[in-house]
Amino acid sequence: MEKLVSLCKRRGFIFQSSEIYGGLEATYDYGPLGVELKNNVKQIWWRDVVTSRADVVGMDAAIFMNPKVWEASGHVEEFHDPLVDCKNCRARFRADHVDTDKPCPRCGIKDWTRPRQFNLMLKTHYGPSEDSSSVIYLRPETAQGIFVNFANAQSTARMKLPFGIAQIGKAFRNEITTGNFLFRSREFEQMEMEYFVRPGESSKWLEYWVEARFDWYKSLGIAENNLRLRQHEKNELAHYAADCYDVEYEFPFGWSELEGIADRGTYDLDQHVSHSGKKMTWFDSKTNEHITPAVVEASAGVDRTVLTVLADAYHEEEVKGEKRVVLRLSPRVAPITAAVFPLVNRGGMPDIAQKIVNDLRGNFAAFFDSGGSIGRRYRRQDEAGTPFGITVDSQTLEDQTVTVRQRDSMQQERVGMDQLTDCLSEKLR
Ligand SMILES: [Zn+2]
Repeated sequence: MEKLVSLCKRRGFIFQSSEIYGGLEATYDYGPLGVELKNNVKQIWWRDVVTSRADVVGMDAAIFMNPKVWEASGHVEEFHDPLVDCKNCRARFRADHVDTDKPCPRCGIKDWTRPRQFNLMLKTHYGPSEDSSSVIYLRPETAQGIFVNFANAQSTARMKLPFGIAQIGKAFRNEITTGNFLFRSREFEQMEMEYFVRPGESSKWLEYWVEARFDWYKSLGIAENNLRLRQHEKNELAHYAADCYDVEYEFPFGWSELEGIADRGTYDLDQHVSHSGKKMTWFDSKTNEHITPAVVEASAGVDRTVLTVLADAYHEEEVKGEKRVVLRLSPRVAPITAAVFPLVNRGGMPDIAQKIVNDLRGNFAAFFDSGGSIGRRYRRQDEAGTPFGITVDSQTLEDQTVTVRQRDSMQQERVGMDQLTDCLSEKLR
């Protein structure tokens, strides 16, 4: 992990937030390459889950919501972690992450407070007064923005069961224990899809979405043997969930959850019906019945997916006696598709390389680099995960061909300059 964190900073994927002021614990900023990688992940998800399907629509709810939403959802009452303090050094731990029969892992003295419940929702004040009536929460999940809009989205998009509503957005949790880089932070981004089905059909659709979502991670180029599905034990399930599966990845710090796919029954809509007094049903005109749909939820983390893609792609190898660090990112998610290099900065080579970059930019993320030896430029792009390197050399001046180097095999082939777009499209297929 330390090597990956260092590469992320060195190449401009991820920086510590507010670094010039010493940072802010467990908060990160995405740099020039990181934001491209993150956007690629979100775009692929949106296309696969929303726009390529007739049965799922998207939405984008506000982060601020009426506080009654979180009473109805159970977050005000239930969204707690047990907390213990070391009375000696004042270190604070999640009670289920530390053995209170043993001394404090920080100071070695055993003097614990009793566990108490700590609500994970971040609070602020909404509007110009700071009294208790203005308390509002930063949403701890995007899902509730979907549930409260169930009737709006269903009726305006004229959806019939089964159908889904999806959104991507930021969520916030005041985690007691953060860590493992992007894995657990207090501000994060979710990709959530709530799939509404006839009660009685939820186990069939749970099975469908578990398989579809597991396959999605493979489609990002993540090695299948580093992925697994884990069904929740009965005692792990939230009280409203009938069944739940996690997609897990084997990180350097162990198997950890990337996405939960859960059968939530009718719990969420029932809660909002009883708290708001509004109808949340779908009318089946064939049977003249008002149905409260059950929900199958697929809840994924953007930042966790980015971390997974990076961790899975990181490789070190020896080439001609030197260490090569290479990010074997799938060309689908790589921030830069092709880097273009003049072999030397003379003979008109930089102008030709710049023209190739300009021509490719309409279709691909292309990047021009003329700084340093060609070997160093290749290494920089290897670390950035750029799948293709295009070099303009002296032969280009004679026959209008360039070399195309594959990042992983480091093999090169000569391609006509006018064939580059076709050649890259072919390789990306
Ligand atoms: Zn202590």
